[in-house]
Formats: sequence, C-alpha cells, structure tokens
Amino acid sequence: MSNSTQTAGADYDAIVIGAGFGGLYTVHKLRDEQGLNVKGYDNASDVGGTWYWNRYPGALSDTESYIYRYSFDKKLLGEWTWTDRYITQPEILDYLNHVADRYDLRRSYDFDTNMTSAKFDEATNLWSVTTDKGETVTAKILVTGLGLLSAVNYPDLKGIDTFKGACVHTARWPEDLDLTGKKVGIIGTASTGQQVITSTAPIAKHLTVFQRSAQYCVPVGQRPQTDAEISDIKANWDTIWDQVRGAAVAFGFDESTIPAMSVSAEERERVFQQAWDEGGGFRFMFATFADIATDMDANKAATDFVTKKILEIVKDPETAKKLIPTDIYAKRPLCGTNYFEVYNRDNVSLVDVKADPVAQITETGVKLVSGAEHDLDVLIFATGFDAVDGNYTKIEFVGRDGVTLGDKWKGGPGGFMGVMETGFPNMFMILGPNGPFTNLPPSIETQVEWIADTVKYVNANDIAAIDVKPEAQEEWLETCRTIADMTLFPKADSWIFGANIPGKEGSVMFYLGGLGNYRQALKDVVDANYASFTLDGAKIAAE
Ligand code: FAD
Ligand code: NAP
Repeated sequence: MSNSTQTAGADYDAIVIGAGFGGLYTVHKLRDEQGLNVKGYDNASDVGGTWYWNRYPGALSDTESYIYRYSFDKKLLGEWTWTDRYITQPEILDYLNHVADRYDLRRSYDFDTNMTSAKFDEATNLWSVTTDKGETVTAKILVTGLGLLSAVNYPDLKGIDTFKGACVHTARWPEDLDLTGKKVGIIGTASTGQQVITSTAPIAKHLTVFQRSAQYCVPVGQRPQTDAEISDIKANWDTIWDQVRGAAVAFGFDESTIPAMSVSAEERERVFQQAWDEGGGFRFMFATFADIATDMDANKAATDFVTKKILEIVKDPETAKKLIPTDIYAKRPLCGTNYFEVYNRDNVSLVDVKADPVAQITETGVKLVSGAEHDLDVLIFATGFDAVDGNYTKIEFVGRDGVTLGDKWKGGPGGFMGVMETGFPNMFMILGPNGPFTNLPPSIETQVEWIADTVKYVNANDIAAIDVKPEAQEEWLETCRTIADMTLFPKADSWIFGANIPGKEGSVMFYLGGLGNYRQALKDVVDANYASFTLDGAKIAAE
C-alpha cells in the first residue's frame, strides 16, 4: 500500500466522494488492490450513506438480506450473518461499519466534509476538488458515489418554519425523536412513508396520514430465517451470485417468462395469491408474469388483484376508496407489513390531500384548503429525494470548456452507462444517470469493478485523460429511451423519471434492460479496447 502519489503534480491519485456501498468499495479497490493514494470525503459523520441518514422507524431494505450485501469477498460473505429475511437499517449500518473496520477504510476519509465543487483542469488533466472546510485538493481520478436517493426533497409548503412542534424529513431523522404518545402527521405514502406509518401507528397517540397518491402495496413477507436456511444460502454463494448477476432486477429470483394473459383467470389468481403470500414487491411485479410492467392488460390484472385485497382488508369503505390507486402499477413496486390493515386502527386517519390540498403549515399543525385543521406534535416528511442527479446538480462540477454538469443536464441528465459523462474526463460516477434499475449492491459492485479496471487500464497505458465519445453516449441514451418506451414505467409519475420534483424536466434516467445485459454492455466496452472513448496519452497516442 502506498502513501505516495503516482500521479505527477497531484495531491492524490484518486478522490472518492461518498462512504456508502459505492464509495467504500471504491476506496478498497483503488487503494488496497492498486496501491493508489486515495482520499475520501463524505458529508456524513461516518460511513453508511443511505443507511447512515435514513434512521426513521421501520427503515428496512426490501431486498432480501442475503443479497443486500457485497459479494466480492467470500470470507466476508461467510462470516457476516443475518437473522431475518429482510435486513433493517441498524443491521445494514452495522454491516457497513464492519466492512469499514475490516478493510480499514475510515483512515482514507474525512467525514463531516462536503465537496462543494470539482473542476477539471485541461492543462494538467487533474481534478481539483474543493470542500466546505476550505480545502482544495487535486487528483487524476475522481469517483463520485454521491448516491441516487440521497438529495433530500422537502415539500415546498407555506409556513413550515412556523410549526412549533418537531418537523423532520425521514432521511434526516434525529435519533432522539420518540413518537410514543404523540400526535403525529406524515406527508408521503410511498416506500418510506409506508414503513414509517406501519411502525408509528402502534405507538402514536394519533397518526394522521396525508396522502397525495394512493400506492399499490403487497406484503413484504418479513420473517426470521432459520440457521438451516442461512447455512444453505452460505453453501451456495456461487450459484446465487451467478443468478443475480445474470438477472434483470437482480432480486434473487428468476423473472417470469409467462405472459399474464396466456393463462386462465384462475391460474392468474393463483399466481398472484402465491406471490402475495410469499411477499416482496419486486417478486409481485416481476416473478408472477413477464409483462406486468410492459402490457396494460397484464398490469390491470395485477392492479385488480391488489384492489380486491384493499377492499377486503380495509373495513371503512370511504377509507378503502381513498387507498385504491388510480395510476397504473408502474412505479417502484412497494411492499410492507400490514400496510392497509393500519387504516383499521382507531388512532389512524387518512387525509386525501389531492382532493383537499395542504394550504399551509401552521404553528400547531396542518391546515387544508377546505379550512380543516389537523393538530400535531410532530410532522414527518416522507417526501423522498431529488433522485439520481440531485446531488450532482446542486454543486459545481466543471468539465471541459468550462461546461458545468448543471447546465449540461438542465433538460435531464445524460450519462454513459451510469458511470461517465462526456466532457468530464477521468470522472467516474457510481449509480450515475442511465445505469441499471435493480437491487443495487450488485449493480454498484459491477460499476466499481468496471471503474477500477478502467483506472488500471488508464494508468497502465499512461493515458492522461479518458472521455466518452459523444456519439457513444448518445447511442446509450437512445438505447435507454427505447427500452423505457417498451415499458409502462414512463406512464406513471415518479422519481424514476424525475417527475416527483416540481420544475424538474422529466427524462429517462435508467437503463431498464436488466443487470445481465448491462454487465455485458460494460464488458463489450472493454472488449472493444475502449473504442467508445477518447484516450489522450503517451503510449496510446504512440501506438
Ligand atoms: P449512498 O448510500 O446514498 O451514499 C452516498 C453518500 O455520499 C452519502 O453519505 C452522501 O451524504 C454523500 N455525499 C453526497 N454528496 C456529497 C458531497 N457533495 N460531499 C460529500 N459527501 C457527499 N436499494 C436496494 O437495492 N434495495 C433496497 O431495499 C433499498 N432500500 C432503500 C431504502 C431507503 C430508505 C433508501 C433511501 C434507499 C434504498 N435503496 C435500496 C437505495 C440505496 O440508496 C442503495 O441501495 C445504496 O445504499 C446506495 O449506495 P451508494 O454508496 O451509491 O450511495
Ligand atoms: P418517493 O417514492 O418519492 O415518495 C414520496 C412520497 O411523498 C409520495 O407519496 C409523494 O406523493 C409524497 N409527496 C412528495 N411531495 C409531496 C407534497 N408536496 N405533498 C404531498 N405529498 C408529497 O420517496 P420515498 O418513499 O422516500 O422512496 C424513494 C425510494 O427510496 C423508493 O422508491 C425506493 O427506491 C427507496 N426506498 C426503499 C425502501 C425499501 O423498502 N427498500 C424504503 C424506503 C425507500 P406522490 O406519489 O403524489 O408524488
């Protein structure tokens, strides 16, 4: 391991922003495997990324525990264990802390440090990174693991500052906030909101749910896993990860190949019921039938099934009616524990803020346009994130010719395979725009490994600057658009297409072609000797 810098004239060989799954693995790959002098920054006080910030009650991964982890180290896989089918936020944070200790990653990081700008110097081919501590450092390689669900979205509501109670966003949860016996209000009823709602209802004095759009939700199927189940998984890692890496959504099951309408109504009912009983949102959407996310009739069969369940579960017909979504089933699939059942509790009320919008937040709670007021001790915003490019566009990234990412991505972010952007040489993104839409740890590993291999190639060939050719990026974007248009996802408004942020230009931000195909596409780039890149450098130029 080297403490000296291999890059002439630079403070570091590589700078890594972020200490979540992506940043941590990158530091390990570049520092420990390639001997590079690497500096990391995170604006959190410690490692964990998503799982450092999202400490709200009920926070849980809905990827099953055994594959919401790294796969790169068999010893780590064997030694670190879990208890339940799905892993909770505290357990994921413990895991990432263990990873940081195990590979001694913290020593490369400055925490509580925000990168405020990153500028590419065309004369030296170095990145110059400035932090909010007033430090400016340079490196040849910049890797940004800023997170795709990380830039917090606060709703723009009048009077927020006047509220006298506690007002919190789920992704900035204060650990000492106890909701027991309190009058709690929550805005947001998607993945996060539903987890908070089901965990808070049993302890709050009263919970008022302010719902704008109703959401389809299926049971998550949380349960303890036996030692025998865990041992069986641990004896089969190779098969498991091979399957995950070759799959579409990489959630540990084989996606169905059977069209929903090719079977009888009875068979459809049986398959949906089986998936409902087993639990899991991605399973319900992708393991039942092949075309729930691509065919309107198949989609309707799924939504009819969930609607029937809502009507069976929710006792008050008015409440049930409000909970039935009017959209098609084409947002990120949700799952939870007794979500619809929660509305049968006497201490939970549901307010439809599409019908009667929030007029303002007052000193004592929420006032609606109709004049109705809801008194609260605590107001929770489960209003999500400025997803994918949110952390990129709020700080200054300056590439070639003084172009900023903010300007370049005004009409929606670009991105080559989620890992690079043309005009920003030697800068590699983790989960940048137009990467895969999957269970994320295996996609993160795929990207970090590709980035590390590319950095190795760049250094081995004395390449001063590697940049994506605009035509290669455009071709990739066209592929992403074409695939997105083959699905129903663009027909529902959600963060997947940037539709959740007022004023944000809707655009395709994911490659919906699956992890297996994505991995092949990245491999093709390497097999073609990086023909889709410009490579400025001594050896290459001489060849
Ligand atoms: P992050 O974990 O987001 O880490 C990025 C870090 O970079 C953060 O600490 C951030 O503060 C820091 N940072 C950003 N900008 C700067 C800057 N300018 N300067 C310094 N530091 C900066 N994915 C799944 O696959 N399955 C799930 O079940 C799942 N559940 C989720 C549940 C929640 C509540 C949320 C919010 C997300 C969930 N995700 C899930 C997505 C999750 O974000 C990813 O799985 C993964 O944790 C992302 O890791 P990352 O390292 O790319 O980014
Ligand atoms: P989200 O999916 O963007 O949902 C935000 C919620 O807030 C929606 O219900 C939205 O309503 C509502 N909202 C936003 N602004 C509002 C406003 N001004 N007034 C009223 N309502 C408003 O955010 P999220 O729930 O935090 O989830 C984001 C992503 O994080 C998920 O899709 C998932 O990828 C990940 N996540 C995963 C899990 C898990 O189980 N593994 C848990 C949490 C998060 P509309 O629908 O009407 O816009």
